[in-house]
Amino acid sequence: MFRLVLFDIDGTLIHTDGAGIRAFGKVFETYFKIPSATRGVSFAGRTDTSLAREIFTRHLIPTTTENFAIFFEQYAFWLAHLLTQTRGDIYPGVWRFIYELQRLPEPPVIGLLTGNVRLGAEIKLRHFNLWEFFLTGAFGDEREDRRQIAALARERGVRILGRNIRPEEILVIGDTPLDIDCARAIGAQTLAVATGDYTVAELKAHQPTWAVPNLDQVRVRELFRDSAPAVAGLMRMLAMPAATSAPGTAGAGRF
Ligand SMILES: [Mg+2]
Repeated sequence: MFRLVLFDIDGTLIHTDGAGIRAFGKVFETYFKIPSATRGVSFAGRTDTSLAREIFTRHLIPTTTENFAIFFEQYAFWLAHLLTQTRGDIYPGVWRFIYELQRLPEPPVIGLLTGNVRLGAEIKLRHFNLWEFFLTGAFGDEREDRRQIAALARERGVRILGRNIRPEEILVIGDTPLDIDCARAIGAQTLAVATGDYTVAELKAHQPTWAVPNLDQVRVRELFRDSAPAVAGLMRMLAMPAATSAPGTAGAGRF
């Protein structure tokens, strides 16, 4: 039975129609005077800090604390602005999945495990009215390595639950091999969703506990019942019909 469920953001809960990547590009273009700075950079599953560091290094910008602070301040401004022009969306089944988590007899703590800086995560999720559902989380400005972000998210979950959590009581939901990798680093089980850049087959090659096309294919009660790895459980989930999406009640943000 899962007691802590940790969600990735981009490609898993929402897509911003490229607003996040464009915001990165805008900061480099307008402040650092480098056009097309994000060209050739792979964003999926990466932490914002490691991405900024890579682009700084490519363009010989010193990786000082001050430059990171300037970058992320400007990034938040551009992100908020570009989201108002975005055609991004919440992925199928996300509302219902969260609603079903909240309706369980023993609801788990719902949190974030993301490479987004905290302010960026908040701006994105507030834009889609999702921010209030997450009670805890760990972010890309707290640790640069995603495995360490996972460990931090776990620590915070333990603090909220007031007891230690066994690794198998943690579920990480994400759309990239890096999500699967960081979940494995804390011994968590993984639900990989093919709503981002990777197909179900590509995700399966990295051996998540489950891999599905999107969250609309998953019924939370089934998932919790089958919380030990089971092919039969996955097959049942894939065979289930879609249900109507419904919003849940908001919880207080506490990180
Ligand atoms: Mg992602």
